[in-house]
Amino acid sequence: MTDIAIIGAGPGGLLTALRLHQAGFRPTIYESVPELKPLGVGVDIKTVGTKEIDELGLLEEFRAISVDAEDSIFYNHFGQEIYAEKCGVHMGYLHEQRFVHRGVLQMLFYRTVLERLGAGSVVLGAKAVGYTQDEEGVTLDIEHRDGTTSQVRHEAVIAADGIKSAVRRQMHPNQAEPEFSGITMWRGTTLREPFRGGHTILHLGDPRISSMIVYPIAENFEGTGLDLINWVVETNGEETIEDWNQVADPEQIIPAFDTLKLPFLDVQQLIRDAREVYLFPLIRHFPLDTWVDDRVVLLGDAAHAMYPRGGNGITQAMLDARVLTEKLVELADPRAAFAAYDGARREMVNRIADNMRGEGYEVIRRIVADRTDGKPFDDIEDVLPLAEADGIFSRYHALVGAPRPGHDAGEATGFRTWNEAAPAEAR
Ligand SMILES: Cc1cc2nc3c(=O)[nH]c(=O)nc-3n(C[C@H](O)[C@H](O)[C@H](O)COP(=O)(O)OP(=O)(O)OC[C@H]3O[C@@H](n4cnc5c(N)ncnc54)[C@H](O)[C@@H]3O)c2cc1C
Repeated sequence: MTDIAIIGAGPGGLLTALRLHQAGFRPTIYESVPELKPLGVGVDIKTVGTKEIDELGLLEEFRAISVDAEDSIFYNHFGQEIYAEKCGVHMGYLHEQRFVHRGVLQMLFYRTVLERLGAGSVVLGAKAVGYTQDEEGVTLDIEHRDGTTSQVRHEAVIAADGIKSAVRRQMHPNQAEPEFSGITMWRGTTLREPFRGGHTILHLGDPRISSMIVYPIAENFEGTGLDLINWVVETNGEETIEDWNQVADPEQIIPAFDTLKLPFLDVQQLIRDAREVYLFPLIRHFPLDTWVDDRVVLLGDAAHAMYPRGGNGITQAMLDARVLTEKLVELADPRAAFAAYDGARREMVNRIADNMRGEGYEVIRRIVADRTDGKPFDDIEDVLPLAEADGIFSRYHALVGAPRPGHDAGEATGFRTWNEAAPAEAR
């Protein structure tokens, strides 16, 4: 079987290694950092992502580190409810939608790679800086932490080296420069009592001013009896470097939520009590016209860096891993397999990345803000009828490859939490 190198031990690279191993391959991973640490904050794993984890035999371990998503509720800048939908199995999907700490999930994948593929399968402190290739294989140039360099040779290379991918830069030297969107993201976590039973994702605010997403990523965190709550605020902001680990002071964003009052959560206090806050600029990376250079292929954020909204970065990396492995099993020549993967995935994922840049389903909060001129409303049905909101959500779920169960049969799937006519499961 093809001897494969994977560049990057992020969730995308590690999951690809596990998928390939399940199919009989023995890949080697090269990772630039000398030690993997559980970095990042929360990610929202959609049902299709949970299915991938299940198929790797990791569902129980995943459940132990994550939180089942039951419902998703949208509010305007005054804490008035706009719309709600059920999530995952509560909506009728076959798999759960779950919330988890990105780094904790990465560590689960990492431990599993070491157990299944062996300790030698991950080479740490090995930064890939370039490649050359010929008819038989690829030579990777590796830079080590002590400044020395070496070369390794494999029959094919999968580059999962993230948003600043060195391989993507070499593959697409004339690619348009990424552009700052004007939006800054503040990502934080806070320990507190569970809100609304501990399984809800909240979407808050007027996107013309500031938006906030809030969801729990760990129950009884480290035995404290408290939930670890993940929150993300988007504001109009200055451009900063595209770095996941930029520490920020949350005080500046607290006034942006002056008018937002919820009966079950003080959002300003949530921000004030943060354990950690990171700044991340939303940068527009332009879609690529190919992910393949013969025996070298891009995967995950390296292929399709997208706004980290809606859990799509990580879930789409998992789907990349699945399709790429299937193609490598079907087609003995990795060049043919990589081309088939590109054909199966690229256009669809580029459409998702595009949708994420326009607000995806979060657009309903903008519609409400525009139609009410940023003021409180009397009856949401006069502003955004349930059927119209349902249509927006159904189109979104279909776009990301998980059409809403029941929608084609004409069933109403969204609801308002106070509405007694909601689907029984949803009340
Ligand atoms: C530190 C960090 C924190 C993050 N936090 C969040 C978050 O809170 N929320 C969110 O939605 N997304 C976050 N992400 C992004 C998220 O992980 C990805 O969108 C998604 O999981 C797809 O992952 P990936 O494996 O393609 O890329 P990444 O997760 O970016 O992983 C890429 C890996 O490649 C390694 N690497 C980079 N360059 C090289 C090189 N030249 N040679 C060898 N190895 C290299 C990196 O060290 C990293 O381990 C974070 C990413 C990182 C790196």
